[in-house]
Amino acid sequence: MVRVSRVHPGSIAEELEIVPGTELVSVNGRALADFLDWEFLSADDELVVEARLPGGEEVTFEIERADGEPLGVELEPPTVRRCANRCEFCFIEGLPTGLRKNLYVRDDDYRLSFAYGNFATLSNVKERDIQRILEYRLSPLYVSVHATPWEARKVLLNNPRVPNIVEQLTRLSAGGIHFHAQMVIVPGLNDGDVLEESLRDLWNLGDAVMSVAVVPVGLTQFSHLYTGTPMDRGRASALLDQVNVWSERAQDERDHAWVYASDELYLLAGRELPLAEYYGDFPQIENGVGAVTSLRERVRNGLTSLPRLEGRRIGVVTGVSMAPLMPELLDELTKATGARFELLPMVNSLFGPTTTTAGLLVGADIRRALSARTDLDLALIPAETINDNGMFLDDETFIAVRESLSMPIYPSYDFIDVLSAEGGGDRAVTRSRVGAAA
Ligand code: SF4
Repeated sequence: MVRVSRVHPGSIAEELEIVPGTELVSVNGRALADFLDWEFLSADDELVVEARLPGGEEVTFEIERADGEPLGVELEPPTVRRCANRCEFCFIEGLPTGLRKNLYVRDDDYRLSFAYGNFATLSNVKERDIQRILEYRLSPLYVSVHATPWEARKVLLNNPRVPNIVEQLTRLSAGGIHFHAQMVIVPGLNDGDVLEESLRDLWNLGDAVMSVAVVPVGLTQFSHLYTGTPMDRGRASALLDQVNVWSERAQDERDHAWVYASDELYLLAGRELPLAEYYGDFPQIENGVGAVTSLRERVRNGLTSLPRLEGRRIGVVTGVSMAPLMPELLDELTKATGARFELLPMVNSLFGPTTTTAGLLVGADIRRALSARTDLDLALIPAETINDNGMFLDDETFIAVRESLSMPIYPSYDFIDVLSAEGGGDRAVTRSRVGAAA
């Protein structure tokens, strides 16, 4: 059973008098367990939908619709499948106490992997889930592999009952499912020979494995489960060498790099990041793979669209890891606009100094960077720090932080998004950005 949360005006659902709170029970005789069933079973143009209205009345709708006409219902969010693992490196276990409840949910849900690109370990999938993945062709899936040798994976996931991932991926790939894989590397556990064996196993699955991201373990000052050593410059360098051997082979034999080290590994190793061509269509950019290169590209491509902003003083808040890469971009922005940019790298006050990613800065960090600054005309903050509800990870709201500061602040993905609107004058920009961020 799934429940309707919203009915679109003028839609088929409105005409049928379906209202929010209506339970959708079955489609064409098949029971609905969740949003996936609804999405796939309601794709036909002739439907018999059994439903229960909020007052308890049971109704049957017979629907014939024109090709592709949407039914016009939105569903309540699904109950997320919880994770059965207990990885030492789990970021959620490394959160401080006292944050909003939903940040502590450890999801491990193949449905969200398909729908939103969340990584899932497939540790908790049962036979009926495999059947659904195959029937609905849920592809590509984003899979946290970490290691393919079974014993190593049990240790990494801290779960003796994890299924054999090679068997799972082999079966699913035989059914036409493709994957993007990630390997979070814990020094001493899944680097070296384990990584080599894992990459070989994934390579042997052929085109089914579309990309592999190699990501260093990310710890906060609260990562209380972690007993290993952190990633350092030498280990990051060794990982890059190993990844490069495989990506060179992939470029020769498969025409794309296939396995990618995350940006953080390059930064840790002090090595230059690859150019945009290397990343192809940036298959794992959401995983921090190629994000810096993509940013550089977007800035360079957008320079000509920027207005002149002579005399403007612009603060740029960022995390510690991005700070060394920013001056070259800010120089280009200065040349293009005439504005004066000031870089404001902030140590993360919530997660501690080991968490250096700009997107994990919190509201308190933004306040700390800007509250004493009366000399700035505006400030840009990383847009990734704010969720869809306009909240930072520390429960501060963007609106509250903005109102506490003397200059306008704008969430920005790549400078160009905000600065290209600046030439029209502050008032217009302020209204549109505030609307977008709130
Ligand atoms: S799989 Fe590991 S890292 Fe992911 S949520 Fe579960 S315990 Fe955390």
